[in-house]
Formats: sequence, C-alpha cells, structure tokens
Amino acid sequence: MDLHYSDAEQGYRIRIRDLLHRLLGPNWRGFGALAEEERQRFRTSWRVALLEHGLLAPGWPAEYGGGGLSLIEQSIVAEELAEAGAPQFPAPNDANGIVLLGPTLMHYGSAEQKERFLPRTLSGDIKWAQGYSEPEAGSDLFNVRTRAVRQGDSWVINGQKIWQTAGLTANWLFGLFRTDPEAPGGKGISFMLLAMDQPGVTVRGIRNMAGETEFAEVFFTDAIASHAHVVGGVGKGASVALGLLGFERGAGGVAAAAAARIEVERLAELARATGGAKDPALRARIARCRADVHVLHCLALRSLAAGVSGDPPGPESSITKMFTSQYRQRVTELAMDILGPRALAFDGPSAVAALGPQPRGLDPSSATAWIQDALHARPGTVYGGSLQIQRNTIAERVLGLPREPRPATSRNASTRGSIRAV
Ligand SMILES: Cc1cc2nc3c(=O)[nH]c(=O)nc-3n(C[C@H](O)[C@H](O)[C@H](O)COP(=O)(O)OP(=O)(O)OC[C@H]3O[C@@H](n4cnc5c(N)ncnc54)[C@H](O)[C@@H]3O)c2cc1C
Repeated sequence: MDLHYSDAEQGYRIRIRDLLHRLLGPNWRGFGALAEEERQRFRTSWRVALLEHGLLAPGWPAEYGGGGLSLIEQSIVAEELAEAGAPQFPAPNDANGIVLLGPTLMHYGSAEQKERFLPRTLSGDIKWAQGYSEPEAGSDLFNVRTRAVRQGDSWVINGQKIWQTAGLTANWLFGLFRTDPEAPGGKGISFMLLAMDQPGVTVRGIRNMAGETEFAEVFFTDAIASHAHVVGGVGKGASVALGLLGFERGAGGVAAAAAARIEVERLAELARATGGAKDPALRARIARCRADVHVLHCLALRSLAAGVSGDPPGPESSITKMFTSQYRQRVTELAMDILGPRALAFDGPSAVAALGPQPRGLDPSSATAWIQDALHARPGTVYGGSLQIQRNTIAERVLGLPREPRPATSRNASTRGSIRAV
C-alpha cells in the first residue's frame, strides 16, 4: 500500500492552494473569523465560486457539472479547503445531495433521473433530505413501515420519517418506502425521490439539546411520488440504500483529520489563554488528542489508498466511524474542562460548522462555539450507525468473532446489526 503522493499530485495540490488563495483574497483568515452577519452572504458567493471551478462536486463527472477528479485529487481539494478554513459544502443540504444522492443516481438512476436531478442539485434548486430513519427503524433500516401503494403512474405514500438533517431547508427527499408488505425484510422496500413542497407532506422541526432546530420529522398523508422516480427498480431499495452508504466513504477522511488538527491547535490556544496549559493533567489530555488526530490521519490515508486500489468500502470503515465519533466527544469534553465554569454559559461567537470541528479563524476562547461542539458531539455515536452497531460490525466482520445473537422473533433478524444508517 503506497501512502505517498506523487510529484504530479503534489503539483496539483500547489495549484489548488494557489487557486483558493486567489479566490479567498489576501485578507482571508478563515470562515470562522467572519462576523455572524457576514456568514450567509459568504456561503452563497462561495458556493457559486466552487461550482464555477468544478470544486463543489469534485468527484462528479464533468458532464453533470462536477470536476471529474480522481479520488486522490478530490482528497487534496477537501484537505486544502480545510487548511484554508473554507467550507467544502456551503449550503446545509449540499452534503446530502452531493456526497450521498449524486453518486447513487449516477450508479443506479435512469437517464431521465440523472438528467432531471443532478444539474438541479448542483445549482442548488433541489435541496435534499435523507428519509431513511423512522421511529421504529433506525439501526434496523429494513424495518421501515412507511407505505407506498401504486396507483397508475404514481405511488401514494403514508407514514412518517424522523431525524432528517436539514429537513427544514430541503425541498426534495430521497428515502426508503415499503412497497410490498408481504415480502420479507429488505425485499419489499423501494428507494424513491419525492417533492417535499406538496400538500401531502408535513415537515416539523425537532429542537436538539444545543437549542437548534436543525433536524426534522416528516409526515406523509397521501403524498405522491412519481413511478419514474423509483431508483434502481421496485423492491430493490435495500441494495440501493446499501450502495448509498458505501459512497459515504468518499474522499473526505484526510480533510477531516486536518480539520481535527486545526481544532487541537485552537484548543491549545484556549488552554494557554486560560492558564490550563500549566496543568499537567490537562496538558497530557491535549497531547492525547493530538496523538488521536495522527491516528485519524493514518486511518484516512489507509482508506484512501484502499479506494485508489479499487477495493470496495469494507467493514473497516466502522473503525474510523467509531474512533472519530468517540474522539469528538473526548476533545470537546476536554474543552469543557479547560473552560471550567465558563462552560456553563454561552459567551463569544457561535459555531459555524454544524457538527464541528470549527474552521480556522473562530475565536479559540469562544465558550459558545466549544459548548455547541460538545453538545453536537454527543449524537455522533448515534447517527451514521450507532457505536454498538459499529462494534458488532468490527467484532463480526473484521475480527471474525461469532455473530451477536439476533432476536428470533424479529422479521429482520438476518439484517439487524449489519446495517448502518446516516
Ligand atoms: C443528529 C442526527 C442526524 C440524523 N440525520 C438523519 C438523516 O438525515 N436521515 C435519516 O434517515 N436518519 C438520520 N438520523 C437517524 C440515525 O440514523 C439513527 O438515529 C440511527 O441509525 C440509530 O437509530 P435509532 O435512533 O432508531 O436507534 P435504535 O436503532 O432504536 O437504537 C437504540 C439503541 O439500541 C442499540 N442497538 C440497536 N440495534 C442494536 C443491535 N443489533 N445490537 C446492539 N445494539 C443495538 C443502538 O446502538 C442504540 O444505542 C440522524 C440521527 C441523529 C442523531
């Protein structure tokens, strides 16, 4: 496994760095340094700039408006954006559309679906929510009950989805619907696209513990999806859903490690400012975080090298997911301890990146941003596949340990524990 960048790749990195420097201007100090009232304006203009340079969806083929870049080049772009402190996905629904749905449509979608949805996703006219989870189906995705019944060229949908990230800003939803209640497990499920701005769809925000209404629940009462918008065929939703989860691996790991390193540097500045840096126990914990960031970087390089060699995403990605989500809790809890009593009240500029880590420029002593990051780190061990599900996957599929006993009564006994949901 070669973990070195070639001369050509290093050259590409320098060109991207120069381009970002030119686009962001000489006075740029990172997105985190912008005043709160300037942030939205920047997001809008930055999205246009990324799109114009093929960097909004660097991995998409040029025919759909992407950059047509190789996996390594995509990784370099993401890493240089993190180093520059500029957002990779400026709008709240971008990651859903660009990282998850786009590659799924390219792989499983019909020509009409690709032509209709891909350009409008990049232009921002279509903003996607992911409709997988339901109140009784989170880890066990194949237990979805939201019903879709065929009527001519349409499907009539009744039921409920929950936990839709950026659901309040979305106008389309991709999700899993039960099209055949008699078929066992995943066999009766279909993957469909449907408009959210129609009379049969009600979206209600859910307030999280940071006090933000960032995700939502979605209710369907005779909502309509066109038959032309079933992706991959009726009853084939399970394989489309699993394919989509595979695209999650993407090329963002190295960039995530860079963002984590920048966060530790910010944490060290906080410790210096508060005097916490003189405390040997706190110093040791900061050093542990820096070592963890190195582990994250190594895991990301390994996954990138495997991707370049054409290996399909394997259960090893559960190791990265588990390590990352636990690390985010560790580093933000440390920030709370360094802040001491200041961690009890909001003070200073708010976080910019929804789930953290925060980009360059954010005031290291802002209690508000650290508190928000600490609160947002809690569900990290739930979304994207819970910690327990990841542990089962690692135990059974990486270490080859005996299978976790499945409840004999569950109709989905064969899938429970092996499915990850975002
Ligand atoms: C911030 C956030 C954003 C999200 N965004 C989205 C989104 O955009 N779209 C979407 O569809 N969903 C989204 N989700 C939902 C997320 O995917 C689910 O919360 C997650 O898959 C877990 O499902 P659940 O909440 O139903 O918990 P459950 O599956 O009910 O699990 C409850 C507990 O039981 C444990 N457990 C379950 N099964 C097993 C097993 N087999 N072995 C051992 N332990 C087990 C779990 O680990 C957990 O601790 C989001 C969730 C959060 C918190």
